Amino acid sequence: MPIESIEQRFTGRLKQRQDEHLYRHRPLSFSPQQPHMQINGVHCINFCSNDYLGLANHPKIQQRLIEVLQNQEVSYGSGAAHLVTGHHLQHHLLEDEIADWLGVERVLLFSTGFMANLAVLQTFAQKGDVILGDKLNHASLIDGALQSEADFKRYPHLDTKGLEKRLKAAKSAKQQAIIVTDGVFSMDGDLAPLDKIQELAGRYNAWLIVDDAHGFGVLGEQGRGTLSHFKLTPDLNTLQIGTLGKAFGCGGAFIAGSNTAIEALIQFARPYIYTTASPQLNAVAVREALKIIKQADNSRQKLQMLIKQFRKGVKNLGLSLWDSPTAIQPILLENSEKAIQWSEALKKQGFWVAAIRPPTVPQNQARLRITLSASHTPKHVEALIEALKSLANQLPCTSTQPAPKK
Ligand SMILES: *Cc1c(COP(=O)(O)O)cnc(C)c1O
Repeated sequence: MPIESIEQRFTGRLKQRQDEHLYRHRPLSFSPQQPHMQINGVHCINFCSNDYLGLANHPKIQQRLIEVLQNQEVSYGSGAAHLVTGHHLQHHLLEDEIADWLGVERVLLFSTGFMANLAVLQTFAQKGDVILGDKLNHASLIDGALQSEADFKRYPHLDTKGLEKRLKAAKSAKQQAIIVTDGVFSMDGDLAPLDKIQELAGRYNAWLIVDDAHGFGVLGEQGRGTLSHFKLTPDLNTLQIGTLGKAFGCGGAFIAGSNTAIEALIQFARPYIYTTASPQLNAVAVREALKIIKQADNSRQKLQMLIKQFRKGVKNLGLSLWDSPTAIQPILLENSEKAIQWSEALKKQGFWVAAIRPPTVPQNQARLRITLSASHTPKHVEALIEALKSLANQLPCTSTQPAPKK
């Protein structure tokens, strides 16, 4: 690398991003997180948050926060790392409650899902091991794998044959294999075939790490996630990662696993040890959110109904709708320019839907990522379908390439 100024290094790169329609902006929100929002000064219905159960602005959680602040039971900040004085009773109770809910030995809280994923791969994948990751895993799992000292191999999306081939190779090389997958894929909405993957893990003595950021709260009995959706129970070589900023409507993350696994994280995980504990008040909010989630069958059913309504309404519009059974409903538009054009046109009609472009998704797979929430009404969804219908007649949509069928 030449010696150069920051200006010299980045001016060209930033310009190139713009030319390729890949430049990113941060939409500025002026309202609480909820279906009706004001974003960049536009009044709109928000169809791209991950607040699947409408808990980000829930009156019961607000009430509880006011109560604990008035009683002076907690502060906002935690003041220090968990290993210093940051580990409050509220964090501790929350960990126990999540562990009980999931039926695992222990749970450990993290400040973000990104950090939890870095921690889990740094700690458990050691030199000589091989990490086997689904090609479409979340960026944080990829970074975690790249930062660990283990070998890192990726298998084609959802391809259990491809995975088994790599497991066989690991076995002959006498390498510990660590399978890493999203439970629900964040940009695609499809599910990892965890039944087959768990069976393979058992057969090859591999460890299994499931990042269920989009499954917890939404799928499975009492919202216990993708494993529960497949009626599976985690064994001692399984770790689950959950985020608390999506269906939980709060912030932070957790890792769920065996007592030994959690102790290993407390002793060795640098993204756990060297960071301030999340705010005490957040732990209070998540505890309340968990109570709601356990009893949220009505919301989960409503969400399923909205998903059906949306898919049925969009089916015959000539759009390339991804084959997704979850609240994440992508419409493939291939190139970034088209994705932005659609997103902007929807904005003009009062719907906020993000255009997702490379490198977040693979080349030529730019898309609208529509997410549904139990806080939407059938009327909201109906209005979105009508808007898509009118745009499908005006704008170039897809598709030389149909959405992949599974
Ligand atoms: C959002 C997300 C994360 C990161 O979680 P944060 O708490 O937002 O940092 C990790 N994995 C997946 C699959 C996600 O969707």
